[in-house]
Amino acid sequence: MLGLNPSDPAHPFRPSSERVAEAVPAASTSPAVNGLLPLLCLAVGPIDGACRLASSGANQNVGRGRPLYFRVPPRHVYVHVPFCARRCSYCDFAIAVRHRVPADEYARAIARELELRALGGSDATVDTIYLGGGTPSLLGPDGVRRVIDIVSERFPPASGAEITIEANPDDVNATSVAGWRAAGVNRVSLGVQSFHPNALAWMHRTHGADQITVAANALADGGMDNWSLDLIFALPEALERDWARDLDAAIALAPPHISLYGLTVELHTPIARWRDRGDTVEGSEDVYEREYLHADETLRGAGYAHYEVSNFGKPGRTSRHNKSYWTGASYVGLGPAAHGYNGLERRWNEREYAAWLRCVNEGKDPLGGAESLTPENRTSEEVYLGLRTSHGLALLPNEREAVRPWVDAGWGTVDSDRLRLTATGWLRLDALAASLTMLRSR
Ligand code: SF4
Repeated sequence: MLGLNPSDPAHPFRPSSERVAEAVPAASTSPAVNGLLPLLCLAVGPIDGACRLASSGANQNVGRGRPLYFRVPPRHVYVHVPFCARRCSYCDFAIAVRHRVPADEYARAIARELELRALGGSDATVDTIYLGGGTPSLLGPDGVRRVIDIVSERFPPASGAEITIEANPDDVNATSVAGWRAAGVNRVSLGVQSFHPNALAWMHRTHGADQITVAANALADGGMDNWSLDLIFALPEALERDWARDLDAAIALAPPHISLYGLTVELHTPIARWRDRGDTVEGSEDVYEREYLHADETLRGAGYAHYEVSNFGKPGRTSRHNKSYWTGASYVGLGPAAHGYNGLERRWNEREYAAWLRCVNEGKDPLGGAESLTPENRTSEEVYLGLRTSHGLALLPNEREAVRPWVDAGWGTVDSDRLRLTATGWLRLDALAASLTMLRSR
């Protein structure tokens, strides 16, 4: 899916495997990147991986081979489920293409990883569990229940905890929805991307447009009233995809939450090959801006709050899990390529499924790498994360004058010394965040 996971930190709109904006801490192409915050890549002193002996100790300070230790019990857990039926044309996520998903093998390995890694903390409950991918819905209802049971044994969900699963439309039916609900899932993130048949075929999606409506009805009929829908914008114009019609079709299904991802061409994807040999042309920056601003206006007009650069929600339906990433909360990451964060340090697991599996089967921490954040890195993240949400960033006294031109340009507003970017400002998020970080670091 397109998740937003510490592995997916790179671009606010990056559609990586469908879930760039949702579900952050999963993994992506490069260790420190996977849809989440490119910021994560700024950390100093990355440590190259190779799984570590689990006996290397939990209480040591961060360093080569040392596990990520939680001084304060984490309240959020991300589980990366890497399996996909095939690779979508734009996707560079850490996935394992499987016709038959080894759900038992995977669940046993997650249990083993939990045994092997010294995660510190206590028996405190967690607020969110997020199964991202990949395509977690391919685990089947029994596989999903098993994984949630295993994770819940170590990290019991609090009463009212948000438990999300990413799903492709072709995996959603009455049986799967009932099974997920019985397993404790109370939120589904549906990877739709488009309702246009040509666009779906070009993206190598496994579902057709008709299956999206069937899936939405199955969620509604099954009582899953908290769900999200992903769309990708800025597709090549030659596809003749009608963005306005796709937005209207999405709104007609009444999802409580919508995530948007602008198409970017990542290395080593089918789209990159098509572009390099001249068979496709990327959507222009004009299209990118026009479609993003059209979505902002249309979705806000339909009652959705544009509460984060890529996310829109009806009242009370924002993503609690993703909010943890945007507020700098600590989280545990399990599964291949998953990232974890304890407020000072980040670690990520071996990216490839086979490498991750080998580590845990050999009784080793599947550590792929780690990095400590310097004060400069934390400043950069604080600015970037603050600016990407509608809550905004508290300005320091010396910054008010510096951002006045941004307000004059319509890129943001300042109220009670908080800078909040507008949709036009979010199109310039990276540049504005870099500028403010530089000012704050002087
Ligand atoms: S379904 Fe799989 S291949 Fe397609 S975008 Fe999502 S993670 Fe990538």
